[in-house]
Amino acid sequence: MAGMIKDLRARPFDLPLVEPFIIATGRKDAANNVLVEVELDNGTIGYGEVAPSPYTTGDTPATCIAVIEQLRPLVIGKDVRQWRSLLGQTRRAVRHQFGAHSGLEIAILDAFGKAVGVPLYQFFGGVSTRVESDYTLSLGSPEETAAAARKAIAAGFRKIKIKVGMGVATDVARVRAVREVGPDAELSLDANQAFSPQAAVELAHRLAAEGIEITLLEQPVRRDDIAGMRFVRERAGVPVGADESVFTPEDAIRVVREGAADVINIKVAKAGLLGALDIYSIARSANLDLMIGCMMESKVGLAASVHLACGLGCFTHCDLDSVFLLKPFDCAGGYTLTGPTFDVEGHGPGTGIELGKK
Ligand SMILES: [Mg+2]
Repeated sequence: MAGMIKDLRARPFDLPLVEPFIIATGRKDAANNVLVEVELDNGTIGYGEVAPSPYTTGDTPATCIAVIEQLRPLVIGKDVRQWRSLLGQTRRAVRHQFGAHSGLEIAILDAFGKAVGVPLYQFFGGVSTRVESDYTLSLGSPEETAAAARKAIAAGFRKIKIKVGMGVATDVARVRAVREVGPDAELSLDANQAFSPQAAVELAHRLAAEGIEITLLEQPVRRDDIAGMRFVRERAGVPVGADESVFTPEDAIRVVREGAADVINIKVAKAGLLGALDIYSIARSANLDLMIGCMMESKVGLAASVHLACGLGCFTHCDLDSVFLLKPFDCAGGYTLTGPTFDVEGHGPGTGIELGKK
């Protein structure tokens, strides 16, 4: 059984979006990602991907590539079957740098899965083989938001996540417009840190007064304002989710200790696969609900999150919709997508991703 790592490579991986994506922290017209490849001595390649988000994670494509380049000597010549000690060393060698570690960890575990012949969802626990994603609506006018919602519902989505942060009155009008076109849709909101604690509570109360039910209010206030998160949680009357407030397991412990959220949004792009597993355990132990999210990953990186979500199960909110925002390219395997539902059964070991194939 071959498992020796022969090479580690990282390169820019630019992917056009179907249409611009606009949230409270900025606008994107293309995904400027990084592809990571771990090659084993028998030629097997493990694929990873990073979707750097300078504002959110502090990564750029150039920093991710530079960090992975720096980690090369630590990785080459190691046995991928000793992945935890190997990734412990890479984590100790360069602190933070969430994107680089995330892309590397996906590539290493994909190569590991391929080396031992196990699909990652089984490696993570094999709880289920399917997961249903929501669909995220960008910032825009009430009319634009409603039109996007109508399209998503027609495509089979039952769960709609609305980006908010345009001001309470505008956001109420936007959410109302979505509720009108999707009376049965499950609605959640993501403010990406845009509100003051008071404004977030006001938004929740005004929606409640109109009888509009919201299943989650994600990251209402600034990431470091843990007291503000708790203020919202205690008054809004809707579950509060921590996304940007939780990058590391230590962040998750802080949110649990402070009673600042009902739900933690785990993203492989923030925590890497190792951190994601730790945060999962912390949240479960503290009886918090779990969400899994993504950045602008293509199928290459997203497959790891899909396998993680299926393997662990019990994610009450799945926001794995980046692939719907990107134009298709030559990449096969990973999962089968039917409407909003990912199915990991029947694909190859690891994440099952094969690049250069349709
Ligand atoms: Mg979010």
